Amino acid sequence: MKTEKSSQYFNKACQVIPGGVNSPVRACKSVGCDPLFVASAKGSIITDVDGNEFIDFVGSWGPMILGHAHPDVVAALSETAPLGTSFGAPCPLEVELAELVCDSVPSMEKVRFVSSGTEATMSAIRLARGFTGRNKVVKFDGCYHGHADSFLVKAGSGVITLGIPGSPGVPNDIVKNTISIPYNDSATLESTLRDETLDIACVIVEPVAGNMGVVVPDMAFLQKMRELTRELGIVLIFDEVITGFRLALGGAQERFAVLPDLTCLGKIIGGGLPVGAYGGRKDIMDNIAPDGPVYQAGTLSGNPLAMAAGLAMLKVVREPGFYQRLEEKSSWFAERLAGIAGASSVPTVLNRIGSMMTCFFTDAPVTDFESAMKADTQRYGKHFRQMLESGVWLAPSQFEAAFISAAHTEEELENALVMTESSFKKLAKS
Ligand SMILES: *Cc1c(COP(=O)(O)O)cnc(C)c1O
Repeated sequence: MKTEKSSQYFNKACQVIPGGVNSPVRACKSVGCDPLFVASAKGSIITDVDGNEFIDFVGSWGPMILGHAHPDVVAALSETAPLGTSFGAPCPLEVELAELVCDSVPSMEKVRFVSSGTEATMSAIRLARGFTGRNKVVKFDGCYHGHADSFLVKAGSGVITLGIPGSPGVPNDIVKNTISIPYNDSATLESTLRDETLDIACVIVEPVAGNMGVVVPDMAFLQKMRELTRELGIVLIFDEVITGFRLALGGAQERFAVLPDLTCLGKIIGGGLPVGAYGGRKDIMDNIAPDGPVYQAGTLSGNPLAMAAGLAMLKVVREPGFYQRLEEKSSWFAERLAGIAGASSVPTVLNRIGSMMTCFFTDAPVTDFESAMKADTQRYGKHFRQMLESGVWLAPSQFEAAFISAAHTEEELENALVMTESSFKKLAKS
């Protein structure tokens, strides 16, 4: 594979951008190679600056559920741009998208748009603190909620991938208000939440973890979380930045029929443009400025281009049968993948729900951060490089999800399976 131009761009980028990238995992450090620079993407195919083509299973880390450059999204953008790209005043598209979001997500009565998932989660915990008058945030080891100070405690995503425990620059005075406990552990959850000395404002959780690789929750764990938080007056926040509009139209909460008080959205909701959102119970949301005292604002919030892209995206996923078709395609693919992995001598565990999955290089079930960390990341790196070489674009980290989009054709998925089989054969020999 020729990577001359990517290397040139990367060398230049490293002079002016830290690590040559604007988000750390993109640097591909944990899989032992340099990043490829992308020229364009269409459907499920990504083309790099050297002209190599890849079948994409990253989907920009989640947003591209329709594949890249979907005609409806592109049309919405080209119709909206000539009308002005930011007003700093309300516009009709915001109302339309807010109505669609509240109509789609079962627990959302009101919603506020922001510009990233990070902004959504940090605003949601501020709101929960303002609403309850309490201080502490409970999160789960290996869950990632963006890069705000409060969340950089045993966090997932790039934080695990790069092996960073917390982060310099985050004061102890802030992290002492964050309690991180194991995922899928109902007993620890109960003893923590029942400890009144802790002054807990909220519990924030990925209802399906996607940032330590895909880890599916026990139903009993989620139900217990809902019962306890309700009983104790603690705000329950579902971080559905990945799972929202991914696992069902109404996200994980619809799929599991467990409704949080607040929900954070991002990724898919922006149709590939920078959008986040948080919303939920009206009585809580009414505490946000200007209705209430909890301050949160944004110059580009509700930006017309971003709203138009999000609207175009949501209109397509709301078509009848969309999620059922995606589920059927994903389960077919995952069964074949599990078959290939099972037939090889390489130990793997495949975790999947809906169109998100992770193949962990380990032989024991992966149910939390500790078990995820047992995965053989060296072997994943080798698999990643072999797949890339053969034209399949996987996440450059063991601890991320692979996403199937509506754009993946059966032929592309078949090809990816053939490449996987040959990569596993090489792994078995080494
Ligand atoms: C990606 C992600 C975020 C952060 O969103 P950004 O748009 O990257 O700030 C938050 N929570 C979860 C679950 C995510 O996957």
